[in-house]
Amino acid sequence: MEILDGKVVSQAVKDSVKEKAAQLKEAGNKTPHLAAVLVGVDGASETYVASKVKNCEEVGFKSTLIRLDANIEESVLIETIEKLNADEDVDGILVQLPLPKQINEAKIIGLIDPAKDVDGFHPVSIGKMVQGLPTFIPATPYGIMMMLEHYNIETKGKHAVIIGRSNIVGRPISILLNRNSYPGNCTVTVCHSHTPNLKEICLQADIIVAALGKPGFLTADMVKENAVVVDVGITRVADSTKKSGFAIKGDVDFAGVAPKCSYITPVPGGVGLMTIAALLMNTYNATLIKSTH
Ligand code: NAD
Repeated sequence: MEILDGKVVSQAVKDSVKEKAAQLKEAGNKTPHLAAVLVGVDGASETYVASKVKNCEEVGFKSTLIRLDANIEESVLIETIEKLNADEDVDGILVQLPLPKQINEAKIIGLIDPAKDVDGFHPVSIGKMVQGLPTFIPATPYGIMMMLEHYNIETKGKHAVIIGRSNIVGRPISILLNRNSYPGNCTVTVCHSHTPNLKEICLQADIIVAALGKPGFLTADMVKENAVVVDVGITRVADSTKKSGFAIKGDVDFAGVAPKCSYITPVPGGVGLMTIAALLMNTYNATLIKSTH
C-alpha cells in the first residue's frame, strides 16, 4: 500500500505555480490576484478561506478577502460580484460556499465572469468541461486528477466508482475520469443516496472516490484487494483531546481499508491540500490567459 500524499503533491504544484507566476511577471505581466468572498461567519468556511489566502501569499499571488455580513440581502452580493468582474486587477473570483439561505447560490455563481471563474462552478465552465474543451476545472476534482497523474496511476480501462454526485465533487470527477485522456478512460459508476447495492458495486471497483460526507462510511468489506481509494470527505467530529475540540474525519475507515489498497489518500493530508493547489493553478491560468490575449 502506498499513500497518495497530498503534502508532497500539493507542494510540487505550488512550487511550479510560484515559478510560473514569477516568470509571467518577469515577462512584464501582472501578478495573479485572487478575490475571495466570504458571507457570514462559519467555522469551516473561515478556515478554508484563510488557508486559500495564506496559500496565495506563499506562491506570491495577490489576494483580497471580502467579508460580508450573514444577513446581507442578495443584491449586496450581486453588486460585489459585479465590481469584482469589472476590476481589471482581479484575475480569479471565488465565493465561499455554502451561502446563507436568503441567497440563491446558483444565481450568484452564474454571475461570476466565466473568465474569472477559478472555482469552475459556472455553467459555462461545467459545459466546457463536459465537452472536453479547455476551461477551469472545479478545484477538488482537478486536484484529484493531478494526484493520480503525479503517482502515474493507471486509469485506462479501470472501473471507477464515485460515491456522491454533487456539482462540486462527485459529478465533475465522474466526467473527468470518463474522458478520453489521461487520467481518464475509466468506466464510471456514480452512486448516490438512492443506490441500493452500494457494497456490491464498490467491490467491483478498481478506483473508488468517496465524496459523500459520512465519516468512516467506506469500510474494508466494501473494497477489493489492490483498489485505489481517494477519500474526499472532510467532516468535523467532536474530539475533546484536540485543542480545537474537533478532529477532521474522511469518508473512509482508513485503518481498515488502507491495508487492502494499492494506493490511498489520507485525511487530513490528502485531497484537501490538493484542492487549494488546484485553485492556485486555476488562478495562475486565468492570469496567463488574460496576459496573452
Ligand atoms: P454533498 O452533500 O453536496 O453531496 C453528497 C453526495 O453524497 C450526494 O450526492 C448524496 O447523494 C451522496 N450520499 C449521501 N449519503 C450517501 C449514502 N449513504 N450512500 C451513497 N451516497 C450518498 O457533499 P459534497 O459537497 O460533494 O462533499 C462531500 C464531502 O466531501 C464532504 O465531507 C465535504 O466536506 C467534502 N469535501 C471535501 C473537499 C476537499 O477539498 N477535500 C472539497 C469539497 C467537499
